[in-house]
Amino acid sequence: MTELEKKQPELQQLFANAITGKRLGHAYLFEGARGTGKMALAERVAQAIFCESGHLGIPCGNCRNCRRFIEGNQPDLIVVEPDGQSIKVDQIRQLKSEFSKSAVEGNKKVYIIDQAEKMTISAANSLLTFLEEPGMDTYLFLLTTVKENILPTIRSRCQIIHFQPLKREVMGDVFREEGITEKYVGVLSALTNDTKEAQRLQADEWFQELLGKVWTWFNQLMKKDSMAFIYVHTDLMPLVKERAQITLCLDLLLFHYRDMLYLSFGHDKAAVHQELLKHHQNFRKDSGYLTQQIENILDGKKAIQANVQAQGVLESLVIQNQLIK
Ligand SMILES: [Zn+2]
Repeated sequence: MTELEKKQPELQQLFANAITGKRLGHAYLFEGARGTGKMALAERVAQAIFCESGHLGIPCGNCRNCRRFIEGNQPDLIVVEPDGQSIKVDQIRQLKSEFSKSAVEGNKKVYIIDQAEKMTISAANSLLTFLEEPGMDTYLFLLTTVKENILPTIRSRCQIIHFQPLKREVMGDVFREEGITEKYVGVLSALTNDTKEAQRLQADEWFQELLGKVWTWFNQLMKKDSMAFIYVHTDLMPLVKERAQITLCLDLLLFHYRDMLYLSFGHDKAAVHQELLKHHQNFRKDSGYLTQQIENILDGKKAIQANVQAQGVLESLVIQNQLIK
């Protein structure tokens, strides 16, 4: 089974059916979190569009066009990605000149625009003219993590396909196959759908250090150890400097509390840190306390989003923890 078949079997089938029934649209907006398989599906559909002897919307993998596709040498497939921070109007102009050429040559053409939310306004406006009159044999796929950041005039001309976040079990299997160590499968599959991101984190010493420190901090909090307050200053703050890092720190803490909650309901299998469950069993499991702490952490995450200073947020978590009966 391919990674895409594991991640998005229903969507893959939906498009295979559309191709078989000649109902494939000309402009799609794929929306979903990183790693949910948007690019993989767009490429798969492109391969099927070009394939000379596909069956039931599934590319054959052997014909001349499939071989060109697999070798990354299919000139009628054009993928546009941000050039730096944005997709610029020149990139779209170039794409449009390809559109008009294809109309002359009569070839099928597929265009994939990754991180389409990064189109500048003028790039987006430039794309609109294509969307108003797509050629018979041209297909456009816009990929985005936030569809609200795509101009409404563009959105309204595309069929929107929503990519659901993946189940942790599914991600766990994908990660195992991609060489993620068993010890990290649980936590990484709770954090991301993106295999590359998971591999990057696994190899990152900083991430491993953070995992260890958050675990120590969680232990202090559970024991209402007064060290927990100082620890924010001595151990956590030197590690978490950016907003994304502090959010990750809070997520990791959240997982421990949620694991405790799962344990208290006898839902051990749902726990992120299977390897730590035997330690968790030593702690109190009052679900009122656990849900209160989980709410406090979620509030902390909101505060961070609102640019509240990180040390204050972490310290206030310790203080609130002391106050819970
Ligand atoms: Zn083929």
